[in-house]
Amino acid sequence: KKPVCECNACYGGSDCSKLLSNCSADAGSGDPYFLEPFWMERAASSAILVSGWHRMGYTYSDRTYISELLVKYIKKFHATVGNAITEGKYIIFGSGSTQLLSAAVYALSPTSSHSPAKVLATAPYYYVYRTQTQFFNSRDFSYEGDTSLWKNKTDKNSLFIEIVTSPNNPDGKLNKGVLQGPNVKTIHDRAYYWPHFTAIPSPADDDLMLYTISKLTGHAGTRFGWAIIKDKAVYEKMSTYMDVNTMGVSRDAQLRALKLLDVALEEDGKQIFQFGYSTLRDRWIRLKKTISKTKRFSLQKLSSQYCTFFKKERDPSPAYAWFKCERKEDKNCYKILEAAGINGRKGSLYGAEDRYVRLGLIRSKDDFEILINQLKVLVAKE
Ligand code: PMP
Repeated sequence: KKPVCECNACYGGSDCSKLLSNCSADAGSGDPYFLEPFWMERAASSAILVSGWHRMGYTYSDRTYISELLVKYIKKFHATVGNAITEGKYIIFGSGSTQLLSAAVYALSPTSSHSPAKVLATAPYYYVYRTQTQFFNSRDFSYEGDTSLWKNKTDKNSLFIEIVTSPNNPDGKLNKGVLQGPNVKTIHDRAYYWPHFTAIPSPADDDLMLYTISKLTGHAGTRFGWAIIKDKAVYEKMSTYMDVNTMGVSRDAQLRALKLLDVALEEDGKQIFQFGYSTLRDRWIRLKKTISKTKRFSLQKLSSQYCTFFKKERDPSPAYAWFKCERKEDKNCYKILEAAGINGRKGSLYGAEDRYVRLGLIRSKDDFEILINQLKVLVAKE
């Protein structure tokens, strides 16, 4: 029995099993607590102990900021999962893929040009592409909105940087770049290209790819991501950015990432991905069933696909629901859900209409149960 003091804010009773009314479902942030039970079962084997004297210096013995052993583990991980080609490419680390995104935009932009690079994404897109580019407000690049504004338009004097998220946050689609031409450079954000969230049809082999442990092992708080880069000049510019910005990534974070990848690689990743996939697949099935009882709401359409990792056709298991209010008058879906005790994220954040709301499905079991419960109440009112 759990002691009462550990009850989630929405649960009460002597064993925390009573769902309290007037409780809001937190489906806002993308905290990946769905993997917490996996790590609880491996509490001892995934622990690290760092003595006070350990790794006090700035660099490793080869005078770099990057653990070569961790690079080896990352390459082994990709080869085992089959989700990225790393041979003949460069790898650098960042404090989460968030920092690498900024480094990549910097590295792909011209320096001190009269014509800044145009940074673009296709809606619905992960809003940090917009907020980060605007925040850094550089002479060398600027956020220019949706790719649809530039498709089939020629602007020979500009360089375009298209950010492609595949699978996409928020709708889980395996997106491809839409702009083409010699003056288009693409950043592929592969944060969700892991068997928890999607089929892996083939290893990704793009020029510049971003990965992160945040959505792989679920350790978003460790702040550790990596970029896989084809072009040496781009790699060198990104490395300079990392050196000047933070002198590389915390050695403690690299040590923890190494341990977590080592444990996740047990049985060639079958344990962690089977757990992640079946958890999210079940959640998606339950959510779809709940919404199917009304025509007022809908979810994105995703289909089964052959996965080279599981060696079989697998069902959808997206990280987020891209929830839509179908009625013409329900223009503000966020408000409708909020009034029903459900906190999501507004569609307009993602460059879409507010009749869409993103609901996180990768939070804890409690969070998901509360979400389903509140949705059932809302749907039953129809
Ligand atoms: N890209 C996408 C598409 C994401 O959804 C997220 C996290 N929500 C990130 C990047 C940032 O990840 P990190 O924790 O590695 O900075």
